[in-house]
Amino acid sequence: MRILIRGPAVIQRPEDKVLPQADVVIEGRRYEAIVSGGGIEGEFDRIVDGEGCLLVPGFVNAHTHLAMTLFRGLAQDLPLMRWLEEKIWPAERKLTGKDVYWFSLLGLAEMIRSGTTAFVDMYFFMEEVARAVEEAGLRALLSYGIIAPTRNRIGPEIKKAEAFVRTWSGKADGRIHTAFSPHAPYTCPPEVWRRVTALARELKAPIHTHLAETVEEVERIRTETERFPAEWLEDMGVFSVPVIAAHCVHVSEKDIEILAAHGATAVHCPTSNLKLACGIAPVQEMLAGGVAVALGTDGAGSAGDLNLVEEMRLAAVLAKQKAGNPEALPAAEALRCATARGAAALGLGRELGTIEPGRRADGTLINMKGPHLCPGHNPLANLVYAAQGSDVAAVVVDGRPLLLGGELQTLDLDEILGRCRELARRFR
Ligand SMILES: [Zn+2]
Repeated sequence: MRILIRGPAVIQRPEDKVLPQADVVIEGRRYEAIVSGGGIEGEFDRIVDGEGCLLVPGFVNAHTHLAMTLFRGLAQDLPLMRWLEEKIWPAERKLTGKDVYWFSLLGLAEMIRSGTTAFVDMYFFMEEVARAVEEAGLRALLSYGIIAPTRNRIGPEIKKAEAFVRTWSGKADGRIHTAFSPHAPYTCPPEVWRRVTALARELKAPIHTHLAETVEEVERIRTETERFPAEWLEDMGVFSVPVIAAHCVHVSEKDIEILAAHGATAVHCPTSNLKLACGIAPVQEMLAGGVAVALGTDGAGSAGDLNLVEEMRLAAVLAKQKAGNPEALPAAEALRCATARGAAALGLGRELGTIEPGRRADGTLINMKGPHLCPGHNPLANLVYAAQGSDVAAVVVDGRPLLLGGELQTLDLDEILGRCRELARRFR
């Protein structure tokens, strides 16, 4: 398919000057040309009107639990451990593959409508998540979340995780990538970490986990191991594979050095951290220390929604407060965290994350004509500090439109909403 996006402003790379008006040609799965000033002629299968819009590299939601849309609004205003132990884990025992499939589609619809083109997910019934991703058309790094509180659970849990990686890696025309996900240092003993790391190395898969989300968790790991969490993982050799570490709210200086030294990605999830009162991640210190920081929503059960536009703005303003410095996390850096750094976490840093000829055609087109975006002094600043997820007009992944004129192209939203409302009743 050959697509022309006619006339949008374009941010090719966050650090570049915004092209005020351009024609963007997509041929097959890749960008073919970005012509400043526009005026391109030729034959196209589809012409997308980009007048008054801003085209940016697609947003990457680098940490979520997609099907937890089921638990949106079910339990809140509780601390993390009580929220998990009293509300979420009991509800998850009732979960079926069918629930996960439909609530994954719901999460995908929500993410597409707010401009997300790729995401990193850890949960259960992952083959159902993968099926939903196949249908929706997004790109994803998926993994089965391993929680092994007792020794006899370790073998079966790792087997499930391995089977998922072996079955689904490279599926959906190469849009599905797979990882291993020991849930967190406090839910998985050393044996899990050692065995999973060996498997990840063998199968060339990254590890996606939660790290240093709460003070209590860090204290627990320090009491048990005399190490900070990242130090403990390093001791076990976990960083011999690429690591995506969600949260990193309570990382020590040493942890930051370790994450940077191994090229790990820290995924900042500001809404979830704030809502559970976990703290504010030291984003500025991590970036200054050389850690790649991406952005995530976490699951909708804890965060409320899956809107990366909102996370980007929150990340930018929180970093300033945390650092006591309004120069911290400037708009271009926030956009990089929301796009290129997430793409790199997926292992696709050379394929995605910028809008350039030859790169994969993943992109988000934002309608900049709303009153909250007027006047257009600085499209980048407007995008980070004023735009809403609902301003997203079009989304393209691998050269395929998933959203046009605000309408989903691959999913039937009414059907998804109907099924989800029905399935949700059992959990009330
Ligand atoms: Zn999480």
